[in-house]
Amino acid sequence: MITLALSKGRIFDESLPLLKAAGIELAEDSESSRRLILATTRPDVRVVLVRATDVPTYVQHGGADLGVAGLDVLLEHGGQGLYQPLDLRIAQCRMSVAVRADFDYAAAVKQGSRIRVATKYVSVARDHFADKGVHVDLIKLYGSMELAPLTGLADAIVDLVSTGSTLAANRLVEVERIMDISSRLVVNQAALKLKQQPIRRIIEAFESALPAVPAKSGQE
Ligand code: ADP
Ligand code: MG
Repeated sequence: MITLALSKGRIFDESLPLLKAAGIELAEDSESSRRLILATTRPDVRVVLVRATDVPTYVQHGGADLGVAGLDVLLEHGGQGLYQPLDLRIAQCRMSVAVRADFDYAAAVKQGSRIRVATKYVSVARDHFADKGVHVDLIKLYGSMELAPLTGLADAIVDLVSTGSTLAANRLVEVERIMDISSRLVVNQAALKLKQQPIRRIIEAFESALPAVPAKSGQE
């Protein structure tokens, strides 16, 4: 049996076409079912539904053989014990710094003031501000980061942005892009050895189902 860990929401939705390309379709409707283990059309493959932040943990400890996790989640987890063979280029967004429209971020950085930063991504945020030589007090949150600058909890947030509409709706502005984010296939290293053939085949099927990467123009 091969167990694949997915999280509900966009990773689940955007993984389905890749699974289909690998000959794996869900045997039951995940919406109507409250089940956390889903059978597939392949008798040797099942899907488990876990929290997005728990995918690396499941795969690391063998609760799942492979999984799909955002780079944001992987960076916070650390990636220990995980083989990361593929960027699936799904659930694409970016990790950014945002502040209230009336907060002068450039001036605060220039003056060397200590900035209070609220985020779910403390590890990425710590590295980012350390690289810039900016002194920060990090405040760990688990959600609704946008609220932190509005309530005075923090001066800035580090959060995921895709269209920017959530930031705009809360009168926040993106002042720095830290990195591009997409979801990665992660594989348990022991499973890769023990179930090498079927896992390799799934990796290859995913790989051939990925849209072609637009070639970087060399003529700029
Ligand atoms: P949750 O809110 O439970 O963390 P999401 O579906 O919002 O679940 O996020 C799962 C993953 O999708 C994140 O870890 C990230 O990699 C990616 N993601 C999050 N927000 C966005 C977004 N706005 N656009 C695209 N991808 C995103
Ligand atoms: Mg979310």
